[in-house]
Amino acid sequence: MKAMFSLFGIPVSQGIAIGRAHVITNTAMETLHYLVPEEEIEGEVRRLETALLAVREELTTLRSDLPEDAPAELGALIDVHALVLADEMFSKEPFNTIRARRYNAEWALMTHIEEVSAKFDSISDPYLRERKADLEQVAERVIKALAGVKEEKPIVASESDQVDLIVVAYNISPADMLKFRESFFKGFVSGTGGKNSHSAIIARGTNMPAVFALSGSLPLIRQNDWLVVDADTGVVIVNPSTLVLEQYRAKQVTQQKAKRRLSRLKKMPAQTKDGTAIGLMANIEFPEDCYTVVDNNADGVGLFRSEFLFLGKGSGVDSFLDEQEQFEAYKKAVTLMKGKPVTIRTLDIGADKVVGSTEKSSVLNPALGRRGIRYSLSEPDIFLVQLRAILRASAFGSVRLLLPMISHGSEIDQALGLLDKAKDQLRTQRIAFDEAIQVGAMIEVPAAVLSLSLFTSRLDFLSIGTNDLIQYALAIDRVDPEVVHLYNPLHPAVLMLLKMTVEHANKVGKPVSICGEMASDHQLTRLLLGLGVRHFSMHPAQLLKVKQEVLLSDLTVLAPKVSHILTLVEDSEIEVAVHDLHQEEMSI
Ligand code: PEP
Ligand code: MG
Repeated sequence: MKAMFSLFGIPVSQGIAIGRAHVITNTAMETLHYLVPEEEIEGEVRRLETALLAVREELTTLRSDLPEDAPAELGALIDVHALVLADEMFSKEPFNTIRARRYNAEWALMTHIEEVSAKFDSISDPYLRERKADLEQVAERVIKALAGVKEEKPIVASESDQVDLIVVAYNISPADMLKFRESFFKGFVSGTGGKNSHSAIIARGTNMPAVFALSGSLPLIRQNDWLVVDADTGVVIVNPSTLVLEQYRAKQVTQQKAKRRLSRLKKMPAQTKDGTAIGLMANIEFPEDCYTVVDNNADGVGLFRSEFLFLGKGSGVDSFLDEQEQFEAYKKAVTLMKGKPVTIRTLDIGADKVVGSTEKSSVLNPALGRRGIRYSLSEPDIFLVQLRAILRASAFGSVRLLLPMISHGSEIDQALGLLDKAKDQLRTQRIAFDEAIQVGAMIEVPAAVLSLSLFTSRLDFLSIGTNDLIQYALAIDRVDPEVVHLYNPLHPAVLMLLKMTVEHANKVGKPVSICGEMASDHQLTRLLLGLGVRHFSMHPAQLLKVKQEVLLSDLTVLAPKVSHILTLVEDSEIEVAVHDLHQEEMSI
């Protein structure tokens, strides 16, 4: 019996996952992970056989084609690779794993390579240690050959006879995380990432328990260890005892029941006790997310992060969807929402959202670089394609256009200029679009808050992106686990920035909503209501919890209490006051 121990990270979603650890290194992350249906197992075995044969032939040809004057080491190296390929870790073990665990060939192969590769690290002889590279090179050849043997297959749902698996990864990028959206994995544990990193946002979207930022303690988790991932508290229990497992299983059942109770609120209008209607909209990454949005009866889509359509799609220019592909995606969301507004944000790539899998940023501070609108304005051809696609979709329902990362009036002017150009083109081509399409901006840079009239004089609405607003106001990289403890949504400066924005928008009569993660946190709903926020946009999974808070709140009671909170300056005092506000008894 292995010893039980606990690791502590940052909870980035909610709930409890119980299962075996599936440790994935950064290289293995690139390979596909799916379970092969029983009847296709022998086909998968043949796929690996064919790939191995192809690599064997490749090596033989390479060897025989070597020029006479080629250095002798080269021939020896190819011989070593042929020997590695003949080893059981290639020729036998992955086949057993495909048959026993139903892993796809790539996954089965990498599971063994990773195990052997880890052993090389502890070898003291430098020559032998370097043989790890040979192993990895041969594995790479086989993975490439496998890609040629069969088309890419999406990650599919597990069959009930399989043990639940939990992904344990050193670093999960947003693009990697997308691969797990429809997967059979039951939870996530990552070494890096903050609560407001885009990977965390997607983890919440998968509705799966996830704990991030375990960094140094991650190596303590071994392949196949039993894990309890408690995403309510950020605790990961490794090798839990039977008693602990039972306790967590009971907690899971209680949570399921609470979820079912909450679902009764779906049809109720979101209204405070004093009768104020509150708009509850949803954040989405893909048009298909609208099914859940509709199911939860949201008032619309407050944020469609369009860049997610592009993440993890090939490299460079290939990763950009053309106008028709984008139009189809936007139209799908608009059609599914049946007349309710869909707020499509133009590309917000940069920082941790890298488009093109091989295009890594070389700048030191990508979050301060060519991100969001800065990218779009520097690539007007790409931007124009997106604007045309969004405009075309606006003919099929209610579309609002949202511009990210704006800090200058001139950026708005340039964006609106390009929008006019796109409209002119469509008019000339007699393609329909909504002439009165509303245009708004994200308020996510402190400079924007300090110059709000630049925005409200030019635009129709504002949407506060608290994730970045906090990042830039407090100078805390939202993805850096080393400073994550300083990322405080309740910092008095952040509350002041929110108050200024809401007050200004209300004064000039422009709609304002919050679409950052603060809107998703039901423990902050009353604070935001008291600050004057009347429109929220959040991940669909959070809608009902926030609605419950709305139903329990009385604005006449909240307003003076929140005014008092705004006079506080000590973090600890604010924290206690907001906690008390959330806990205060206000029965429905
Ligand atoms: C935000 O910054 O709060 C926001 C909603 O945008 P994103 O999280 O995509 O940066
Ligand atoms: Mg943002």
